Amino acid sequence: MKKMREWMYRFMYGRYGSDQLNMTLIFSALIMNFAAILLRSFWLSVLCDVLFLCAVYRMFSRNIVKRSLENRKFMDRTAGIRRRWKAFNLTRKDRANRYSVCPKCSQIVRYPRHRGNIEVICPKCGTTFVRRS
Ligand SMILES: [Zn+2]
Repeated sequence: MKKMREWMYRFMYGRYGSDQLNMTLIFSALIMNFAAILLRSFWLSVLCDVLFLCAVYRMFSRNIVKRSLENRKFMDRTAGIRRRWKAFNLTRKDRANRYSVCPKCSQIVRYPRHRGNIEVICPKCGTTFVRRS
């Protein structure tokens, strides 16, 4: 077991490993694989194989700079979605308040629940927007 671990360390030395883009690729490939099984679609299963192979290629790649730039681009493009997801989860956990993303500066703003339609003022940029609380 120890030899296997050492072999793995040596094999992965200088290789990129995993990141958020890789995890997204693998997760999407899994979901698409289930969809392909349910729909009995050959081309969908080919597409999920391609996604999985891309993830494996990125994981074992030695071009760390290029892989990091790809991940950075992915993280920049999905920043809005991730912020909305974070606000959604904060709202789900907090029984007294709701959370929303400011449309101008993307700051997460908290406001009380059960007050009807209220005008929310962003503390960072001062933009006002109406949300149902
Ligand atoms: Zn704002």
